[in-house]
Amino acid sequence: MRYEDFHRQSIEDPEGFWAEQAKAIHWHKAPERILDYSRPPFRKWFVGGETNLCFNAVDRHLDERGDQLALVGYSTETNSVRELTYRELHREVNAFAAVLQSLGVGKGDRVVIYMPHTVDAVFAMLACARIGAIHSVVFGGFASLNLALRIDDARPTLLVCADAGIRGGKVLPFKPLVDEALARAQFPPRHVLVVNRGLAPSLDLVPGRDLEYGPLREQHLDADVPVTWLESNEPSYILYTSGTTGKPKGVQRDVGGYAVALALSMWSIYDVRAGQVMFSTSDIGWVVGHSYNVYGPLIAGATSILYEGLPTTPDAGIWWKICERYGVRTMFSSPTAVRVLKKQDAAYLTRYDLSKLQYLFLAGEPLDEPTVEWITQGLGKTVIDNYWQTETGWPVVSLMPGLDMKPVKFGSPGLPVPGYDLRLINEATGEDVGVDEKGVLVIRPPLPPGCLSTVWNNDERFLAGYFGHFREQLYSSLDWATRDAEGYTFILGRTDDVINVAGHRLGTREIEESVSSHPGVAEAAVIGVHDAVKGQVPVVFATLKRLPGADEDEHETAREMLQTVADQLGAVARPSRVYVVNALPKTRSGKLLRRSLQALAEQRDPGDLSTLDDPSALEEVRRALERGPEAGS
Ligand code: AMP
Repeated sequence: MRYEDFHRQSIEDPEGFWAEQAKAIHWHKAPERILDYSRPPFRKWFVGGETNLCFNAVDRHLDERGDQLALVGYSTETNSVRELTYRELHREVNAFAAVLQSLGVGKGDRVVIYMPHTVDAVFAMLACARIGAIHSVVFGGFASLNLALRIDDARPTLLVCADAGIRGGKVLPFKPLVDEALARAQFPPRHVLVVNRGLAPSLDLVPGRDLEYGPLREQHLDADVPVTWLESNEPSYILYTSGTTGKPKGVQRDVGGYAVALALSMWSIYDVRAGQVMFSTSDIGWVVGHSYNVYGPLIAGATSILYEGLPTTPDAGIWWKICERYGVRTMFSSPTAVRVLKKQDAAYLTRYDLSKLQYLFLAGEPLDEPTVEWITQGLGKTVIDNYWQTETGWPVVSLMPGLDMKPVKFGSPGLPVPGYDLRLINEATGEDVGVDEKGVLVIRPPLPPGCLSTVWNNDERFLAGYFGHFREQLYSSLDWATRDAEGYTFILGRTDDVINVAGHRLGTREIEESVSSHPGVAEAAVIGVHDAVKGQVPVVFATLKRLPGADEDEHETAREMLQTVADQLGAVARPSRVYVVNALPKTRSGKLLRRSLQALAEQRDPGDLSTLDDPSALEEVRRALERGPEAGS
């Protein structure tokens, strides 16, 4: 079918379109209504239908492909490979689900999963889905404050963690971070379940609270845990993401809509069908990990590969070696990862037999032309940029080789995905912009299946944060974009204070709050500054409290600020540089002029300064930039 017809049908007759797509998954009870849009912008897809993500991802395939590989956990950190067929995966998930039940976890309870990118984490996620518990995976690179904030918002019954992660050969024990987070949290879970990989020197189990998974697994290895059927709109998981405030928001996903959207995306966008192999280099802590390491490929009956390790260990050929070994058809990664590989010998790209590999999809951050050109030429494969967000759960703008491949235009992720009625709106007037004019990318509701249902426990934030920007009730992506005459969309960057570091979304306010918690700091501004490999890096401008009589060493305080962020939020959020200044540039009403700060740090024109309160503050910043940072490099 032509892309244009498919997309048009999804917008003109959404109920007909999605009723057809819903046939791709198993329904225990068929939906009574395809769409309920009686309370806009909230919408319910497949109302009255009953299904289960775990059943669709695992049980459903047992008869036809029980002995096919479902999951591969390939780690160059522990030098191990774990391969599981659908039958073996079924057994592990049942055992995990039985353990969860033995700890009192049931339908609607939250389970925080704080684990590295391993198959055990997938067992835990699928086990939650099986019994109707709501998982909330917290990225293993986050530290205790980030974990505590998420615990207090989700109020879990149980926390599942591993003893340790490992990166670049360095073991990072998780349990001390969990203990710290639980000491901080107001609503700690009853139990902590520790999956012991044998990496951390000790587990320090707290009697009565902490349990080791291994012995419990043994007890429940032959368990057969019945699937809990869920109404399509019940929550399946919460995934926290950064916004404009210091508090992360819990993106809440449903069950049926998510399964149907993923099923559609697997064949039409990623061109992966049952029996084929998909390799996403993301992490289960991010939305790509949820959708295309776990649920998407498994719902499709494909094989999913999880990789733990650096892209350059033992050498920069490791990903292509994995592609050869498993016959990967579609690979999914990020522009940052490609920029890392670009610093290595291009010969690695052709060292292995990649005859089965058809596509490399890249997402999560802007894909610059030199990067896409380099990898397209080096691999000799189709490279497809795709644009989406944690909130949407699956692509919004992409090309669709499984349906009808359109030409790639470097710099653009392509065309709107079926289900998405996209518009570009002038921020001031609320009107649609013209061809090649810059506007805010918005989705005309109802949002398609797969996108967030609401913000966990916070409908107001869902309404105000996403739908409160224009006169018309439109979902704002908070991204700028343009569209050319052929309808190709070009993404230009965020309209808010969110920054994108190596494809990871970070809130500058969260980092500012962390920096400001240092007793020597009076005020801090954090901005994202262009970086050749990571896209952006966080940079701090701070003023210090000049405590009377304090013998202040600015360099020492600046170094401590970096450490504070790493300790509280995690290494991913650690700023790259700290500049100490006497004043921060602000408007007369006291608002920080972040855009001007960012422009100066990127050696660009600071723009309109008519609202600047104190011109000397800007001079201060210029001098600090010339002098160089007090900490970082
Ligand atoms: P996250 O929710 O972490 O996936 O981050 C979503 C944000 O990343 C989007 O709002 C964009 O700002 C950015 N982003 C994601 N994919 C792309 C892309 N293909 N091109 C440009 N920016 C992107």
